[in-house]
Amino acid sequence: MSLEEIVKSEPAYRLDQIFLAWFDKNIHNFSEITTLSKNLREQLIGEPWMTVKEKILQTSEVDGTRKALLEFSDGKVVESVLMPRASKKEWPDDRPRFTICVSSQVGCPMGCAFCATGKLGFSRNLSYREIIDQMRYWQQILWDNNEGEIDNIVFMGQGEPLLNYENVKLSLKILVKYAKIGQRKITLSTVGVPEAMEKIVTEKDFPAVRFALSLHSALSESRLAIIPSNRPGFLDFLVEWSKKYHNAFPSRTHFIGLEYIMLKGVNDDAQHLNALIKLALKLGSIRVNLIPYNGSSCNDFFQGTDFATIQTWQKKMNDRDITCTIRRSQGLDIDAACGQLANKNQ
Ligand code: SAH
Ligand code: SF4
Repeated sequence: MSLEEIVKSEPAYRLDQIFLAWFDKNIHNFSEITTLSKNLREQLIGEPWMTVKEKILQTSEVDGTRKALLEFSDGKVVESVLMPRASKKEWPDDRPRFTICVSSQVGCPMGCAFCATGKLGFSRNLSYREIIDQMRYWQQILWDNNEGEIDNIVFMGQGEPLLNYENVKLSLKILVKYAKIGQRKITLSTVGVPEAMEKIVTEKDFPAVRFALSLHSALSESRLAIIPSNRPGFLDFLVEWSKKYHNAFPSRTHFIGLEYIMLKGVNDDAQHLNALIKLALKLGSIRVNLIPYNGSSCNDFFQGTDFATIQTWQKKMNDRDITCTIRRSQGLDIDAACGQLANKNQ
């Protein structure tokens, strides 16, 4: 019987008590949740306390980024990444702070041409527990070594989170409410799934997390050439959707992130820059994040744009009052950077 089936006949707050316990340093299994009845604790004895098991853990010698290959009960695996935050300004009490990158699916069906995960194909969605347990796995390591805290989570690991909408939504709610990760400290990254994007702006209970769209081209045809899931009319949809998004999340700190991998000769000429600026100006509060392409041994088809050109793009956008940053890749030496997660060491 699953956890949900076991607690079904119990009052609703039972699940709250369990969720809280999952993020409590002093509780190590269901039988230690003393707020539960003895009878319920006995029923939960066969339930796994943690749904992920570490198979391989690697640490970058360059920047301390760690990457874990995690296995689920059916033998499927995903990768998950822990990144130390370099800037000590982000360590309020001198304790190191970490960002984690979580996966939402085993593999990914979207098949983006530049992404190592896309090459794996799709296997299955992760359950909400398998998503939050990636956080609990890293948290346990930090607790065991008294190393610091996780205060930032990006859904930028393997998979397309919006194709696994309900599990992702529930995991976000749990991370916000029980792991006490601030809503603005969680970023959901998507290549764009219109039906799910509509739900985000209409469902009142969707957590106000940050939203990042993997745009990679503001010209429909060239976007389709690298993102096979790009539907005709998606960019027009995006403009309309952005209005609903800003209405639903009106706070000034709530911008839409636009992710843009710079691929030499593919999406980095003047025409693409102009299209990006034009689109960005229609989307309200946004921030562009230019991403230097991370190659991987299973993808040598593309080359990254040279850094000077990336900087020129940044400047041109800043000149038009568009906030634009350049992503710093972490964990390159262990293939832990964005787009490199391909379970290679399996
Ligand atoms: N499926 C979601 C989230 C996972 S991908 C999405 O596509 O947004 C997380 C981020 O890594 C995305 O912005 C994606 O475009 C980027 N990415 C994929 N392959 C990459 C590569 N080879 N180099 C740099 N970034 C890459
Ligand atoms: Fe899937 Fe994102 Fe990779 Fe595209 S970039 S294949 S959507 S994980």
